[in-house]
Amino acid sequence: MTEKSEYSLKLLEKLEDEVNSCINCGFCESVCPTLPSSGFISSIGARGRVDVGKEMIREIKGKGVIELKVDESFYSCLDCYACLQVCPAGVNAGKVSEIGKEIITSGELTIEDQKNPIANMIVELTMKYRNPLGIREVCAGWSAGLQFESESTNLLYTGNMYQMMAYNETLGKIEKSMGDAFSKNMARYLTKHSGLSKYMKYFRNKKTEREMNSYLKNIYSLLKDSGIKFTYLHEEEPYPGTFIHDLGYEKEFSEYAKYLCDLFHERKVKTIITVDPHTYDLLKNTLPSYVTDFDFKVIYYLDLLEENDFQRTSDNITYHEPCHLVLRGEGYNRPKKLLESIAKVSMPYRSGKKVFCCGGPDELLYGKLSSNISEERFRQLKETGTEKIITACPICLSNLNKDDSVEDISSYLINRRKDNLKEVQ
Ligand code: SF4
Ligand code: SF4
Repeated sequence: MTEKSEYSLKLLEKLEDEVNSCINCGFCESVCPTLPSSGFISSIGARGRVDVGKEMIREIKGKGVIELKVDESFYSCLDCYACLQVCPAGVNAGKVSEIGKEIITSGELTIEDQKNPIANMIVELTMKYRNPLGIREVCAGWSAGLQFESESTNLLYTGNMYQMMAYNETLGKIEKSMGDAFSKNMARYLTKHSGLSKYMKYFRNKKTEREMNSYLKNIYSLLKDSGIKFTYLHEEEPYPGTFIHDLGYEKEFSEYAKYLCDLFHERKVKTIITVDPHTYDLLKNTLPSYVTDFDFKVIYYLDLLEENDFQRTSDNITYHEPCHLVLRGEGYNRPKKLLESIAKVSMPYRSGKKVFCCGGPDELLYGKLSSNISEERFRQLKETGTEKIITACPICLSNLNKDDSVEDISSYLINRRKDNLKEVQ
């Protein structure tokens, strides 16, 4: 083996630790959403990803370098961790994909550059503009005219997530209709000419933008009505960096994590109120291990709402659980509990530890795969036969929004607040 840096050797060790206990039983394949949606291409499934990891180690040990093309296998992973829930050996194929992407981005172990140009663009723009599409300022639009408590140490942190869905939809459509090569070339061009991202605002779907802004306003009102005081960073609010981490850009993520942590300290934040599962999971379970001074309390806005404030109804609804809430850390099921206090909740067969991802994380890189997964999840949700499907994540909502039955939890809740109902009567 040719001389490798300490960082690369550590990456290999991490990969070996993760794949070595695999006994090749295939249980993980039975729950992995990307395998059937890819037409059963084995390297686009959980066991296949572990096998690719094992082959990479064999190549390094034999030839000193990875010749195998591994990018599609790892970048197409949803990071949902459904595979980990069923693996008798405790192997996490999602983690294997994360390490695999880190190996690709480090560039030292592969014979050719396998970095995904769309991933590169996202990381480049985030590092430069603190937003994956360079639209941070536009993302504050929803808050126009609303009052915040600038002295409060509670920060309402949207992470720009709801706001970006208006762009994801259009960009996802471009990827699906123009093809992978076109999107990659467009991403390469934008990476080189990042200043052009100022025109990104013309790619938004205005109807989706209005809807997403209305959900953020619902969240604002739900918190205000509950007597919570909070501030907001407006145009300065940065994206949390989830993509940088999930796409395997470890060094960049370390830098970004420090920037984010410093910003919160500078603004004297003590409690971060998150509004989406990806930001909550990142701040709760991942980011603290990248910095030394993460001393903030991280909560989900639903934690601050009282069940008694909502009217019990005769509704029969279906709830789609976000993987990043139920399959990460300790698991988090406050949205389900809150909904159960208001309505009869019918859960689809794939729920709890068996939850099936909406396909959203693949939207920008593998549009067709993502829409196959969301079609399947939508079918599973419809099978419960209820009139409403409730989501608690902007990405799930955007991907599953295939008819009028799908609704964000914030709009479901706000319409069932006791005060709200009294006003209507
Ligand atoms: S379930 Fe675990 S042990 Fe079985 S094939 Fe998948 S990774 Fe290997
Ligand atoms: S994390 Fe999800 S998409 Fe990735 S291998 Fe596991 S089950 Fe499949």
